[in-house]
Amino acid sequence: MAVQIEKLELQSKANAPLLIAGPCSAENRAQTLETAEALCNMGIRVFRAGIWKPRTKPGCFEGVGNIGLEWLKEAKQKTGMLMCTEVATAEHVFMALEAGIDILWIGARTTTDPFAVEALAEAFRDFETKRHSVDVTLLIKNPVNPDVELWCGAIERFYNRGIRKIGLIHRGFSSYSTGRYRNIPLWDIPIEMKRRFPDITMICDPSHIGGDRNLVASISQQAMDMNYDGLMIECHIEPEKALSDKAQQLSPPALKEMLQHLIVRDNRQPQDSLDVFRNRIDELDENLISILSERMVVAAKIGRYKEEHNMPVLQSLRYGELVERLKEKALELNLNEEFIQALMEIIHKESVRIQMEQRKNF
Ligand code: PEP
Ligand code: MN
Repeated sequence: MAVQIEKLELQSKANAPLLIAGPCSAENRAQTLETAEALCNMGIRVFRAGIWKPRTKPGCFEGVGNIGLEWLKEAKQKTGMLMCTEVATAEHVFMALEAGIDILWIGARTTTDPFAVEALAEAFRDFETKRHSVDVTLLIKNPVNPDVELWCGAIERFYNRGIRKIGLIHRGFSSYSTGRYRNIPLWDIPIEMKRRFPDITMICDPSHIGGDRNLVASISQQAMDMNYDGLMIECHIEPEKALSDKAQQLSPPALKEMLQHLIVRDNRQPQDSLDVFRNRIDELDENLISILSERMVVAAKIGRYKEEHNMPVLQSLRYGELVERLKEKALELNLNEEFIQALMEIIHKESVRIQMEQRKNF
């Protein structure tokens, strides 16, 4: 079946980003209602709050569970905002739909698991056959690992079960080395998704990409510059007391201030692809620096070992082999051999310097 997904009709104005904001987790009735009211007063129309929280490690706050649905229903009734929460099991789907939640999102950990996605997709159909027609909007977060096919697979599974109102949330990817981000953005993956699904609504989640409230503004601006349709931002009435994702949540006044400074580009103009490449270059450079730092830590350990075993710092045979091996690798990867040789010389020189310096202080 050819998958054809239209833009979601959730934006208030044609050229305004779709803003979804709210706490990482609904923690209690007062925090949920107060945050929703503050956001509603700022003109935000969609409220997010997790009630079933997927945590990487046990022992973390795992959400308030079903009682949270009551608070979301009350927030909806009091503010008229659309409610949005994460579902990860068929039971969540049933309960959230029954409670009249308007928008459901599939979390990054769930998108990685085709069995879970299939079970959720089936749950929508079951709900429809047993109860009413389903008119829910579904937002699919990128899988934690940078796998375009998994993300597409999730879209297809829901589409095949009749869900048509589908949008995507880019929340970044887990990686051994993420630079300054909690989840490395890898902007070219959402770009590829837009190439495959040109009309799909793409929302950026700067809170989970950055993992740090101080990064939310710059990542949001980057998303706007890249013509994203909207932002999902974590916002807590008292961020320092948040039970989950404390470091990345903004208070309502901080969010208001950030939005006032956000420059929304005219999305009818052609996109400046130079920025896309430059952002990618910045990301790669940051990775290079983290890798170099790791390499120097190992070099220092080797230095200590050599000192303890009365070995000389410089072992030219080993260095010669290393350069030859990397030059071969460079050829394979279409990199200039001389460039790699020169680069390795500088890196090696610095390792030697570190090891000699250590010896002086031993
Ligand atoms: C969240 O939105 O709070 C969340 C758990 O997100 P993710 O699935 O992106 O980690
Ligand atoms: Mn969160």
